[in-house]
Amino acid sequence: MASRNQNRPPRSPNAKKEGLGGIPFDKRRKVETQGTGRRQAFSAVNKQDVTMNSDVGSIEECGKVEFTKDEVLALLSERAKAGKFDTKAKIEQMTDIIKRLKVCVKWFQQADETHIQEKENLKVSLESAEQKYNHKELDARTKEEELQATISQLKENVVSLHEKLAKEESCKQDAIECHRREKESRVAAEKVQASLGEELDKVKEEKMAAKQKVTSLEDMYKRLQEYNTSLQQYNSKLQTDLETVRAALTRAEKEKSSILENLSTLRGHSKSLQDQLASSRVLQDDAIKQKDSLLLEVTNLRNELQQVRDDRDRQVVQSQKLAEEIGKYQENVGKSSQELDILIAKSGSLEETCLLQKERINMLEQQLAIASERQKMADASVSLTRTEFEEQKHLLCEQQDRLADMEHQLCEAELLRKKLHNTILELKGNIRVFCRVRPLLPDDGGRHEATVIAYPTSTEARGRGVDLVQSGNKHPFTFDKVFNHEASQEEVFFEISQLVQSALDGYKVCIFAYGQTGSGKTYTMMGRPETPEQKGLIPRSLEQIFQASQSLGAQGWKYKMQVSMLEIYNETIRDLLSTNRTTSMELVRADSGTSGKQYTITHDVNGHTHVSDLTIFDVCSIGKISSLLQQAAQSRSVGKTQMNEQSSRSHFVFTMRISGVNESTEQQVQGVLNLIDLAGSERLSKSGATGDRLKETQAINKSLSALSDVIFALAKKEDHVPFRNSKLTYLLQPCLGGDSKTLMFVNISPDPSSAGESLCSLRFAARVNACEIGIPRRQTSTKLLDSRLSYG
Ligand code: ADP
Ligand code: MG
Repeated sequence: MASRNQNRPPRSPNAKKEGLGGIPFDKRRKVETQGTGRRQAFSAVNKQDVTMNSDVGSIEECGKVEFTKDEVLALLSERAKAGKFDTKAKIEQMTDIIKRLKVCVKWFQQADETHIQEKENLKVSLESAEQKYNHKELDARTKEEELQATISQLKENVVSLHEKLAKEESCKQDAIECHRREKESRVAAEKVQASLGEELDKVKEEKMAAKQKVTSLEDMYKRLQEYNTSLQQYNSKLQTDLETVRAALTRAEKEKSSILENLSTLRGHSKSLQDQLASSRVLQDDAIKQKDSLLLEVTNLRNELQQVRDDRDRQVVQSQKLAEEIGKYQENVGKSSQELDILIAKSGSLEETCLLQKERINMLEQQLAIASERQKMADASVSLTRTEFEEQKHLLCEQQDRLADMEHQLCEAELLRKKLHNTILELKGNIRVFCRVRPLLPDDGGRHEATVIAYPTSTEARGRGVDLVQSGNKHPFTFDKVFNHEASQEEVFFEISQLVQSALDGYKVCIFAYGQTGSGKTYTMMGRPETPEQKGLIPRSLEQIFQASQSLGAQGWKYKMQVSMLEIYNETIRDLLSTNRTTSMELVRADSGTSGKQYTITHDVNGHTHVSDLTIFDVCSIGKISSLLQQAAQSRSVGKTQMNEQSSRSHFVFTMRISGVNESTEQQVQGVLNLIDLAGSERLSKSGATGDRLKETQAINKSLSALSDVIFALAKKEDHVPFRNSKLTYLLQPCLGGDSKTLMFVNISPDPSSAGESLCSLRFAARVNACEIGIPRRQTSTKLLDSRLSYG
């Protein structure tokens, strides 16, 4: 209470007059909200009554006193509470009230003043505020505009951001899709990776195996290379031998030609001498004639001279007569002196003529002497020429003798050459392999497919190489000789004619034709005998043998030839020359042992083979052979109908034994020529055989593998050679390896569908080609044997 009194002046009475409107803004608020405080303040004023009672002036000095509306209203409505009769109290109360009213009025006036003041201030501040406001409004407007711009910009930004967002959204979708797909592919890749891992393992294993194989192959290659180099050295040695022999031969030939030339020049010389002799004789005759004519001329001249002399004498007589006449006609001398002069002149000229004639006579006599001298010389030269002629004749005889000698030597050299050639072939020692590719036939399926056979053109492989292309892979092979599809039967035969000759020289020769059915084995061996240029090796060999045996007959050789032809079907021998036709079925029985004909094969100690009950024909002409070949072909074709195309399912063996005897040299040779058309080599799986066919195929496979086993065993020089594993190898035992010459034709079909079989055939042939079997020996003896020989 005390603090309030200190802070606030007592209420001036003016405050009552001013009313509430004069209360400053902040104070009015106090009036409205702090009713309790105001009442307290009023009560404080009321309580001051005691202290401020005496002096109003002190009230004014008390400072400002605040009044609320209620206080003012209360003050206005306040009445003197003293009784009607207490005027004094009433006056006192009334003065107090007046005093308080005065304070209130004063407060009111003050408040009003402050209010006006404040109003003014407010006006000023309002104006400034208004100005500020306007400024602010302007600012705000510009700001608003700016903001609007920013807003629109932001809106645009928002739109663009929306667009971006949409784009981003689609991108996100794409990315999600991508991610999904990647996930899938990753899964797939993982799977692939797993499978690749497995494959890698497998490949690693394969690689290891291949590495091992490679090392083994490398070893083999090294060994082969060594072998090859040794062969090459050997070959080069042989070549040099051949070269020296050739050089000797050429030297001999050169000598022969020089002798021939010499002889011809001598002949020319002798002829010229003879000509000279004849000419000198003619000359001599001429000289004699000339001499005669000169003699005649001399006599003539002598006669003439005589005449001239006579003339002269007569002239002399005449001159004498004239002299007499002179005497007679002395008086006519003057006249006749002229005549005389003339006559003298005449006589002089005549004398001159006479002298001339004399000279001529001398000349002629000289000529005569020369001619006679010449004649003498000619006579001498004639005798000289004669002696020379005799000498030349002698020389000619000598030269002719020498020529004969040289010719003889040449024959011997030729023989030596043949022998050396043979030795080269012998030293080669391995089975030789020729490859023959038949032309594409109209029946072949693969006419429009790519060719599977190619022939390399490099110099070292030309004529010896053949490449087979199968499913894109090239398989190169080389053999002793390769005949392409264009090779004629004659060309093929030319290459083997030396071998056929060897049979005549006493060797055992085997020529095989190997290959699948339809590859041209029968065509190569037999050909088409009805057309001369398509005749095969068998008829051509026989022709050569007959021709050669005939020409060797001039050297004292007599040959005996025997022929047999058989077929091996299902390991059973079938005689193709048997006159008994039922034999075609005997093989079945022979197999079971019920037939009388066993066809057992035996070899004697001399290496000669005997087949019991086999028909053997002595042949001495090509005509006979042809009929036998026909018979065999017929016999085979009978089998063909009965035995399910047996011709390609059986081995055909043509055998010719050749025995030669030379009575003059007591030499004897025994050769054998075997020509074998093997059964088709196609594999079992391909033929899809069952039943009888299966048995057939198995028999063929067995005998072909037996043949290769024998060849490879011979090549490895094994102690045991399994000749007995098949009828074919057992039959040919003496003719395989050791002392025989073997040639194998591998026949190839160019039909692309046969490429697999062709590859098998070529691989087999290549293995055979690598075999060295032995050195062939010639079967000869100088002991003259009985003309009936055993045939091996
Ligand atoms: P294979 O005896 O191997 O079964 P062939 O000799 O019977 O085969 O030949 C099959 C076919 O092909 C025959 O028609 C034959 O005339 C023909 N032929 C084979 N080689 C030749 C060739 N070099 N020239 C022409 N035709 C051939
Ligand atoms: Mg055939």
